[in-house]
Amino acid sequence: MKNNFSDIQNTIEELHCKYLPFKDGHTADYIPELAHANTNHFGIAVVTTEGEVFKVGNCEASFTLQSTSKPFVYGLALEQNGQEKMLSKVGVEPTGDAFNSIIELEKQSHRPYNPMINSGAIAVSSLIQGTSFHDKIATIIKAFESYVGHALVVDENVFLSEKKTAHRNRAIAHLLRHFGIIEEDNIEEILDLYFKQCSILVNTIDLATIAATIAGGGVQPFTKNQVVHSNTARDILSLMFTCGMYDSTGEWAYTVGLPAKSGVSGGLLAALPGKMGIAVYSPLIDERGHSLRAVKVFQELAKKYSLSVFSHEDN
Ligand code: GLN
Repeated sequence: MKNNFSDIQNTIEELHCKYLPFKDGHTADYIPELAHANTNHFGIAVVTTEGEVFKVGNCEASFTLQSTSKPFVYGLALEQNGQEKMLSKVGVEPTGDAFNSIIELEKQSHRPYNPMINSGAIAVSSLIQGTSFHDKIATIIKAFESYVGHALVVDENVFLSEKKTAHRNRAIAHLLRHFGIIEEDNIEEILDLYFKQCSILVNTIDLATIAATIAGGGVQPFTKNQVVHSNTARDILSLMFTCGMYDSTGEWAYTVGLPAKSGVSGGLLAALPGKMGIAVYSPLIDERGHSLRAVKVFQELAKKYSLSVFSHEDN
């Protein structure tokens, strides 16, 4: 039956048992530091908008946000700059291309298609307001702290590892500068901001709490603080729904049907509007950068509880 979650704890325990032996995929070794992730780690967490928590597995193990940061940094930039400015720099259209694609920047308006892919997210980094680099990164960390409800730190090793090897992202940033999407010459600083946001350490419960906050119209489920405006939460959810899973967003919409965002460190979060946030962590990812165990778990949860936002009440 749609959305009857009374046995959710049992269900996630069963799914954890079922997919723990599932070892397909690989760690994100293009960022050398992420290659060392413990591939046995596997956590599933559900946080309701009322603040109930259900969890199983390695939900306290920490990992870096990577691309799961993108919708929320976009939300911050949106609140700082307004819709018109944001739309002039970054679109809201899905691409059907990989997250790190460079090719679409050569086409049409040179404006990144959306903020969930790297080109869009790097453009968003250039739009974060602040008096200095430190002020800007502090603002980003503070935003995530208000989502999770406690202090957060950056994993400096992951940050440096990505900074050292990010030739593709560097090329994207220079193209953005060439086309005037990035307006200043401080390319390295903008990239550092992006790499730092990607390197913020969280755990699976944090990720589910972030998702629950956005599912609850921007209200943090434990502190009850309004973390972002409800319109911002709405805009974040639409972008996650249409672009969050890159070139498998259509398949995800069809098989899961929830606004979601993945990251190459293995985190995947999804929001069931008005009800809950769900997160899964497992560092074994597919070629598109999605945690494979997470995709399996979400597909099963979606089927069992008719999670799709388009499911009818009678399902
Ligand atoms: N920091 C990563 C990168 O830019 C994030 C990618 C991701 O999680 N898909 O490549």
